[in-house]
Amino acid sequence: MKPTIDRRQFIGGVAALAASRALAQKAPSGKIAAEAAGHLPARGELLLRNAWVMTMDAELGDIAGGDVHIRDGKIVAVGKALAAPGATVLDGRGSIVLPGLVDTHWHMWNSLLRDFAGEKASDGYFATVARFGEVMTPDDMYRATRLAAAEAVHSGITTVHNFCHNARSREHVEADIRALQESGLRGRYSYGWAQGLADTQLCNLGDLEGLHRDWPKFAGGGLLSLGFAWRGMFRASALPESVYRAEFETARRLGLPISAHVGNSEIDSKGQIEALAKANLLGRDVQILHALSATPAEIAMLASAGATVSLSPGTELRMGYGITKAGDFLDAGVQVGVSVDNTVLAGDANMFALLKMIRNIENGRSHNEYKMSARRALELGTIDGARSLGLDATIGSLKPGKRADVIMISTQRLNMGVFTDPAHMLVESAQAENVDTVIADGRILKRAGKLTAMATAPIFADAAASLEAMRKRANWR
Ligand SMILES: [Zn+2]
Repeated sequence: MKPTIDRRQFIGGVAALAASRALAQKAPSGKIAAEAAGHLPARGELLLRNAWVMTMDAELGDIAGGDVHIRDGKIVAVGKALAAPGATVLDGRGSIVLPGLVDTHWHMWNSLLRDFAGEKASDGYFATVARFGEVMTPDDMYRATRLAAAEAVHSGITTVHNFCHNARSREHVEADIRALQESGLRGRYSYGWAQGLADTQLCNLGDLEGLHRDWPKFAGGGLLSLGFAWRGMFRASALPESVYRAEFETARRLGLPISAHVGNSEIDSKGQIEALAKANLLGRDVQILHALSATPAEIAMLASAGATVSLSPGTELRMGYGITKAGDFLDAGVQVGVSVDNTVLAGDANMFALLKMIRNIENGRSHNEYKMSARRALELGTIDGARSLGLDATIGSLKPGKRADVIMISTQRLNMGVFTDPAHMLVESAQAENVDTVIADGRILKRAGKLTAMATAPIFADAAASLEAMRKRANWR
């Protein structure tokens, strides 16, 4: 079903959104059209009953045979044998309930290129993403991010940080954001540059200002916030100061959180964090992605500036960037989050697998079976991720008063089948298929293993059609 593709490219801005939604609603296949228009399930009153509840809250701890009561998107109570007459009961027997997982950096726009990075430099990650990124239409952006958002829900990720470094036009950006709005996910949208933009040219700071001014229209009822995807000081070579400083200072003047890939490679990116610190470009509003080249002195600089770090072992290992050093940041008091980064390299968005990598790498490099506990890894994927995005007052743990981002993991699958230590089961065994129920801001987005608000068949069909057309436009074999 592609009722509005060509039209939308010719109509600008919000008018295009309104027009495309109206057209989509008139399209013949009613159910899918309604979904494409972004109809989300209502927030009701829910009672998750009799599960192993991991609140990830220091005081509430774990509750065996516990309940979580949710009303109008908020957690009302967490405990045992809660009374909630009138609530829809979700039976949690044999299941583990925990806060929704938090991703802290993901280039959702390049998700049509899953597993696409080849075996040599000419078709490696950067070459592929640049070549395809430059031929993407707003519809391609929408379809890519919709595929990523659907996978996030499937995998139990309820918060994403969508870092867009393919902001080709306002229409591209609005299409990208619309996919997030329609998904029901919580998140940050970081506006950045466009693939192919010369390092000597500024990104479109006018569009950034406009987006900031108009943000209430894009905030998805308060679920989405705006950030800035900054190129930093270094790319293939050093950027001119007139570029990196103007971009940084604009974002800071607007009060936007700033994210940048810095120290990506353990070997090739040495000294970058120190350079940022010396240029006075760190702070509590700055998130550093990867930071694999960080020395102990640079880690101390991050800690004293209050900058956060996002680690993506799924892509860092695949790229040969080096070995993620979560423990060094944590020991120094740096706030750490975990991230998908992209599925071009990582292949999937399995946050449980990423937590397992973080922990196993840490134990391996420490030669210590007990260096990082499974529970500590789970904190990184929940409450620590929320802290690193400034969302810990809202989400990240199951506590009365917080918003209801809650997932339920069934242990009745062949990769589990017994109930042992729940933290170990989640970090060591869990896969997306074990995620039975996903609730984001009180809306049920996945139930009994099936997405409730997104039909997968048109997501796949649209993704395939876009990729095929992009291959032709990019003259890719
Ligand atoms: Zn990245």
